[in-house]
Amino acid sequence: IPDIRRHMDRLAAEGVDVVRVIYPDLIGTDRARDVLLDHLPAACTHGLAFCRAVYHTSPQGDVVPVAGGLDAGLPDVCVRPDLSTLTVLPWEPGVASCLGEVTDPATSAPAPESPRDLLRAVLARCAEAGLRPVVGPELEYFLLEPAPGTPTGWRRSPETTGAVYTAGLRADPDNHLLRTLRLLRDLRIGVTNGNHEFDGGQYEINLTHSGALDAADRAFRFKAAVKELARREGRLATFMAKPFGEAGGSGFHLHLSCEDLDGQNAFHDPSGAYGLSATARHAVAGVLAHAPALAALANPTVNSYKRFGPDTLAPWLIDWGLDNRSAMLRIPPERGSGARLELRLGDASANPYLLIAGTAAAALLGVRAGQEPPAPLEGYGYDTARSDLLPPTLSAALDALEADTALTELLGKDFTTAFLTYKRDEVARFQRHVTDWEFTEYAYHL
Ligand code: GLU
Ligand code: MG
Ligand code: MG
Repeated sequence: IPDIRRHMDRLAAEGVDVVRVIYPDLIGTDRARDVLLDHLPAACTHGLAFCRAVYHTSPQGDVVPVAGGLDAGLPDVCVRPDLSTLTVLPWEPGVASCLGEVTDPATSAPAPESPRDLLRAVLARCAEAGLRPVVGPELEYFLLEPAPGTPTGWRRSPETTGAVYTAGLRADPDNHLLRTLRLLRDLRIGVTNGNHEFDGGQYEINLTHSGALDAADRAFRFKAAVKELARREGRLATFMAKPFGEAGGSGFHLHLSCEDLDGQNAFHDPSGAYGLSATARHAVAGVLAHAPALAALANPTVNSYKRFGPDTLAPWLIDWGLDNRSAMLRIPPERGSGARLELRLGDASANPYLLIAGTAAAALLGVRAGQEPPAPLEGYGYDTARSDLLPPTLSAALDALEADTALTELLGKDFTTAFLTYKRDEVARFQRHVTDWEFTEYAYHL
């Protein structure tokens, strides 16, 4: 197999003897096997066997009963290295990583719960409409350090700086951001810049824009890399939406435009309303119309809904605005080739493939229907008198997803069923759990 041989020779010349094959599971966790270089040809030919199950991420690590997994006796899925995605890990000598393609061994078809294939399927539908989505991801996260004796065992690292947009040791006393930025550059996933966010220990790193699948791959690898780099320092980088009640949440803002068949930005039209093309306006309208269902993918945890709220710079209403950061969907001021929308709905816990697939699907539905958006928000949003609120809970968002048959038709029945089953199990586990708050509130005086 000459292609594999060529890659192996190159890797060996770079001192690599292990290839870490990673793939995103349903919730975007990176699952992996470390494959000795000599066994890469076998992995490419026969695939690597993983148990077809879906796991939740708490330390108990239980298997979630998604159809075709537990009920079928935990059969295999087959993961084949995608050698076009090979990249040497700059922090782990001798190791390269690549993405894996997840298939059902019986049919060789993509596994229905494979997020990467779901995104491919949505992009194929966009292509039928002559559109090629282009995506730029922005991700925020908190860096935590061990805090023995506290309820969670972690505290923000550092707790107190909180100096948004300040650089250097004032905000980041041991240069975590600089170190991380350089290593991510060397990983070659298209990172452009980073900044300190609003709260102590909170950072944002931006990725360059590219075709939607490539951007999803890079955002997925970004999250895995940042978590790994923090662990190497005995710390925890968390992408959960709202880890602390007293601090802001972490967003996963998504910049989206579409190229037409000539490779031109189909969102730009200097003569159109707001300097946007009809395609752009329809895309905005589609995202607004499908926002309650999209929230299930963009805000996929019970914790996600605690990030929303007035005065958070996270959204609160289903609205859009021109260069307005208090809206769910912002049109940045650039036009021309930079004309785009910024969806601020998603939080950092979202699976990048699902967030991007859902957003592209909602935009496509708006384009297909020729929908027009309402007038854009003027001034500071968060009008508490308005009723077009985002779903208040994960449970409500899952119901909205199930009810949105136009969107689920694009996402596919198998995926939607697996996702709803997994997430409803999560909601049920949460609802059974007695929290510290309940004890403190009710134990003493009632
Ligand atoms: N942290 C905010 C969010 O959750 C965004 C802040 C910003 O605009 O950078 O979306
Ligand atoms: Mg930010
Ligand atoms: Mg942003």
